[in-house]
Amino acid sequence: MTTRAEVNTPAEVAAFLKGISRAAVTTHTGVDGDAVGSAVALVYLLRRLGAEAVFCHGEPVPEYLRWLLPHEQLFEAPEGYDLLVVDTSRADRAGVGGTPRLNIDHHEDNPLYAEYNLVNPRAAASAEIVYDLYLELGVEVEKPAAEALYTAIRTDTGGFRFRNVSPRAHEIVAELMRAGVVPAEMYDRLNRTATIEQLNIVGLCLAKARRYGEVVVTTIENEDYERTGATELDSKEAIDYLRSVAGVDVVAHLREVPEGTKASLRSEAVDVGEIARRFGGGGHRLAAGYTVEGVRPEKAKEMLLAELARVVDLGGAR
Ligand code: AMP
Ligand code: MN
Ligand code: MN
Repeated sequence: MTTRAEVNTPAEVAAFLKGISRAAVTTHTGVDGDAVGSAVALVYLLRRLGAEAVFCHGEPVPEYLRWLLPHEQLFEAPEGYDLLVVDTSRADRAGVGGTPRLNIDHHEDNPLYAEYNLVNPRAAASAEIVYDLYLELGVEVEKPAAEALYTAIRTDTGGFRFRNVSPRAHEIVAELMRAGVVPAEMYDRLNRTATIEQLNIVGLCLAKARRYGEVVVTTIENEDYERTGATELDSKEAIDYLRSVAGVDVVAHLREVPEGTKASLRSEAVDVGEIARRFGGGGHRLAAGYTVEGVRPEKAKEMLLAELARVVDLGGAR
């Protein structure tokens, strides 16, 4: 094992950014609002510093986030551009190949894989860290960047409901509103974008949810995608609804993917990041994920319940 590198200071990273002339910014695979929002806000910051900056990602950005992009999506980093990565807990989860020069993130298990690392697990979203760089560099946040940062913070706090919300997150949001963000417009753009297929698969996820004491698990299989015409990612939209059951501490969304089963875990108290790492995945204490290869969701559910039995009450049911 190599010794863990030190986190850089915002001042060091600001000085590094000032020296950049061409930058390709990417984020983790399976993007979310913080991934795209913090990456795009970093692109705008670099442009204000006089750099040529682009967003690139190997997977298409989903429709509901595409309006954030500053240009047509690039699917790989252009030749000769410095690679900067945001919101990505491990280098192998980055959206494009290459050696990252900068790693901006808030996952506590981030191993500081880049030349410069600005990692703060207390930040509710990676976007908070990008916002700090605007402050550090004295760059005004213009409306498109403000909308990107708002989208990011709103996403990673579950719409300001999760335990990671801090006074600081709200203070930043107040500044973003002063920069022109209208939350009701953001709600329309981010939430009123579903298709009937998505609505149907979310319904299936809810119908198939089962309770085991303090745990709720749902499993979604290939047949369910066929039946609804929806995708694996569409089905994940159901995860927050699973949390509505009283007395439940951990919720799990297990969905079939070509490699096997992908799991998304959420909790109020249990360290699900630790559980995800036992299956080769990772994430935050209260929001984490992993993929088990060659295993279908029903079997993945048994494997997960066996692990969860050590930390939560499954109510004697299995
Ligand atoms: P998700 O359930 O996909 O929204 O992911 C929740 C959190 O877990 C995010 O912070 C992800 O970065 C992290 N995560 C999900 N899958 C993995 C994985 N296979 N390896 C490492 N981290 C993951
Ligand atoms: Mn993310
Ligand atoms: Mn994030």
